[in-house]
Amino acid sequence: MTDLYPADRITRAHKATADAGLDALLLTPGADLRYLTGYDAHAQERLTCLVLQASGPATLVVPELEKAAAEASLAGALDLPIAAWPEGGDAYAFVRDLLGTAPTRVGLSNRMWAEQALAFRDALPGTELALAGEVLRGLRIRKSAAEVEALREAAHAIDRVHARMGEWLRAGRTEAEVGRDIADAIIAEGHVSVSFVIVGCGPNGASPHHAVSDRVIEPGDPVVVDIGGVRADGYCSDETRTYAIGEPPAEFRAYYEVLRAAQEAGVAAVRPGVTAHQVDAACRNLITAAGYGEYFIHRTGHGIGLDGHEEPWIIAGNDEPLEPGMAFSVEPGIYLPARHGARIEDIVVCAESGVDRLNLADRELVIL
Ligand code: ZN
Ligand code: ZN
Repeated sequence: MTDLYPADRITRAHKATADAGLDALLLTPGADLRYLTGYDAHAQERLTCLVLQASGPATLVVPELEKAAAEASLAGALDLPIAAWPEGGDAYAFVRDLLGTAPTRVGLSNRMWAEQALAFRDALPGTELALAGEVLRGLRIRKSAAEVEALREAAHAIDRVHARMGEWLRAGRTEAEVGRDIADAIIAEGHVSVSFVIVGCGPNGASPHHAVSDRVIEPGDPVVVDIGGVRADGYCSDETRTYAIGEPPAEFRAYYEVLRAAQEAGVAAVRPGVTAHQVDAACRNLITAAGYGEYFIHRTGHGIGLDGHEEPWIIAGNDEPLEPGMAFSVEPGIYLPARHGARIEDIVVCAESGVDRLNLADRELVIL
């Protein structure tokens, strides 16, 4: 675990904070806090916050009743003071006092709860509030070798769930029944929590973020199955395969092959220096040329790490060049409203030499 959460990240964050012209970062429970400290803190109404000053100390502020848990976490092994505020006390005044002279500009976790962001605004009048993401994205967007291996293990765990789909996915069962079995398998195959289970059969497959419903799966249905979870080390999985229950409609077979070629082209485009825009275009151009452009209604992919969706965004107009260590999905889809849809999603890593595919499950249409 210490390979995954090295102690020098806090040092690097001090420097990045100073370089960004911020006086401090205030990081509440979530991926930013875990990335820097290894502490998988519980998000709740009582304030837990890493107070990291650009040119001063870093302190992990916790509620009194969570101090023992914080000390027992990976954060307890860092050279990082853990300061507890008492139950019933003013946690925001506690942080203000730690900061000393009023800071000019501080960065808050992008996904901090609004009630906490507003409480910091009130506790630090005259301080400009910014997003910590502008500091931390540069650290988090390029994964270390240990992080890539953690994502690979997560990818293989979700590959194993897809490999078992024939145990559960069949005509006569509802999406919800199949979804419950999949959720159990996500845990059984090596995750500590289920992030999402999408089982979209027939027309529901045309809604990219459909979850599950009581629709009964019918013979001939295409079924989009997009699933993911979080591993004990904090890293996420996310993989989509589209199945058919017996022989699917001919028009589905036709566009599935277009989609498969498009996903392959997107993956093949990945290498250092290629932009996120170009990866999106590699998928989209093939789908558009085949006449299905209007049915590919979302970006091609998203980064993944401690958050299931994080930077980089693989989307038209994002001219950020890919760099070694960037991990993201390539997940084009074709969705015919009220009929059916298909998506194929793999997590890949931009490597020095090109692309490193983490998901390995077969991408041919699987007929169950
Ligand atoms: Zn997905
Ligand atoms: Zn995804």
